[in-house]
Amino acid sequence: MLIGVPKEIKNHEYRIGLTPAGARELGALGHQVIVQRDGGKSIGLTDDQYVKAGAEIVDTPDEIFARADMIIKVKEPQPVECAMLRPGQVLYTYLHLAPDPEQTKALVASGATCIAYETVTDRKGGLPLLAPMSEVAGRMSIQAGAHALEKAQGGSGILLGGVPGVKPAEVMVIGGGVVGINAARMAMGMNAHVTILDRSLDRLKYLDEVYGDRLTTIYSTRDAIEERLPYTDLVIGAVLIPGAAAPKLIAREQLSLMRPGSVLVDVAIDQGGCFETSRATTHQNPTYEVDGIIHYCVANMPGGVARTSTFALTNATLPYALQLANKGARQALLDDEHLRNGLNVHAGKITYQAVATDLGYAY
Ligand code: NAD
Repeated sequence: MLIGVPKEIKNHEYRIGLTPAGARELGALGHQVIVQRDGGKSIGLTDDQYVKAGAEIVDTPDEIFARADMIIKVKEPQPVECAMLRPGQVLYTYLHLAPDPEQTKALVASGATCIAYETVTDRKGGLPLLAPMSEVAGRMSIQAGAHALEKAQGGSGILLGGVPGVKPAEVMVIGGGVVGINAARMAMGMNAHVTILDRSLDRLKYLDEVYGDRLTTIYSTRDAIEERLPYTDLVIGAVLIPGAAAPKLIAREQLSLMRPGSVLVDVAIDQGGCFETSRATTHQNPTYEVDGIIHYCVANMPGGVARTSTFALTNATLPYALQLANKGARQALLDDEHLRNGLNVHAGKITYQAVATDLGYAY
């Protein structure tokens, strides 16, 4: 199969859909890889590395889309990319179609076979191609929060780990899933005192078994959260109710319970945010203040560490890319129900029920 990897064109997107190591794996199995010139340059993946891995470098996205049987990307295709897709071609990338009727229409019109990373499932009912980005965001939330606590950033001037003779910061992580456990690990690693809240008793039990008395686990209620606000320095919002907007767990009037300069990091901002006062921000301007409390609400946190995120993402996406290339998309999708759950659009039809229902297409 001929696999094409274009350079990402969405604003401030520096990730790339395939690393040189991935190109080599595909090449070793007899596949041909073409990569757009400078596709990974901004994260230190050079054209030379791709060439050494057996890939061919081409100058334009037009050539990639014209020649490739399968396109591997990171972000949803932009209108100019949708227009280059053709019937029978496979597109393997994040799509997030439900809130994006324009893109959906363009992909339906293209006739291509479009597999969305975010709906591929695994045996445990998880979303294996979303999880790596939650790991990145969870770990990053603590470094972002620690930075925001600094005086020059508007914070209260507290060092997360304290020092001998001075107590560490109090960190409250709301939601103990993939983001939450990774945030808690980083905060514990920096010697902060960490409390994690969840609504799943199974999850709290698991966290307790793994971390013992290094981590305080609390069942998540509005009372439990409110009770902790007066002495918490950093709150990480990491909840998810699949398919629904994030519940608002801290109301504006509750901000007055917190010490001035304390920090809220709302990782769930991509689902609308779990604090009433959250609004999406960017890496260029990540924080703002409401009632003396610093808010960090970057909607695409992994983009800030694009090199790590590229490796994390492609570690998860490559095994499916190999299946698609080896067997051809049709057979690979027939053989693997979890990969099939990723199929969102095929030959002019929506093939993912939630997207069809949300956007009023036949299913
Ligand atoms: P997950 O499903 O692994 O974990 C979510 C956890 O929240 C679950 O354990 C669930 O029981 C818990 N929960 C639900 N309601 C709760 C409540 N009221 N109180 C406490 N806990 C509650 O999800 P995840 O992968 O950790 O993702 C968490 C959020 O982070 C999602 O909204 C996801 O979209 C978002 N995210 C954002 C970025 C970003 O760049 N901003 C990146 C990755 C993920």
